[in-house]
Amino acid sequence: ESFSDFKLNKQILNAIKDAGYEHPTPIQQKAIPLVLAGHDIMGIAQTGTGKTAAFVLPLLMKLKYAQGDAPRAMILAPTRELAIQIEENVKKYATYMEIRHTAIYGGTGAKVQIEAFENGMDLIVATPGRFMDLYRKQVFKTKEIKTLIIDEADKMMDMGFMPQIRQILEIIPVKRQNLLFSATMPESVIKLSEEFLEFPEKVEV
Ligand code: AMP
Repeated sequence: ESFSDFKLNKQILNAIKDAGYEHPTPIQQKAIPLVLAGHDIMGIAQTGTGKTAAFVLPLLMKLKYAQGDAPRAMILAPTRELAIQIEENVKKYATYMEIRHTAIYGGTGAKVQIEAFENGMDLIVATPGRFMDLYRKQVFKTKEIKTLIIDEADKMMDMGFMPQIRQILEIIPVKRQNLLFSATMPESVIKLSEEFLEFPEKVEV
């Protein structure tokens, strides 16, 4: 198997080459075609399996290029560290693309994070609390969000983010693609997946 088997563009394939990846990992092999086909996904995968690229690569393919002012996709992460790490992955894979992306998270001033929106935005990587803060400050609009990814959903539930996730689901369009990734499947994540995913494809490694 090779990355060129997927319907990814040349810019993405070049970034993968730069990263030195030779073959897609099992989670990437299973998830990438399903995400590209527009399915909702319940992905069960640990850190280290290549799960970040499994959702970021097809998401970049979907976003294609900078477009309009309002973000079209968001990735939610439970912690500042994970949000930063996902954003670094996005930056690496989007090197040859004209996509605007940023990470917003708490524990630091909002000013610099707000300034990043001045020239429009395509993709936000966020922790739930800071996302709602900046939304209430009208830093960005949510009406164009067509893809929502929740990473480390089990940790998200452990940290008590369910109310914030429900608030976020209320302010984004109903018609969208949803991807949920979790290392484990406790009852709380099963419940979240039932509320949030439509006819999901289950991907497990
Ligand atoms: P993750 O599970 O997303 O945290 O990724 C774990 C590590 O695997 C990261 O350092 C990635 O850069 C790396 N990685 C992701 N996909 C591949 C691949 N197809 N081949 C080799 N390394 C990869």
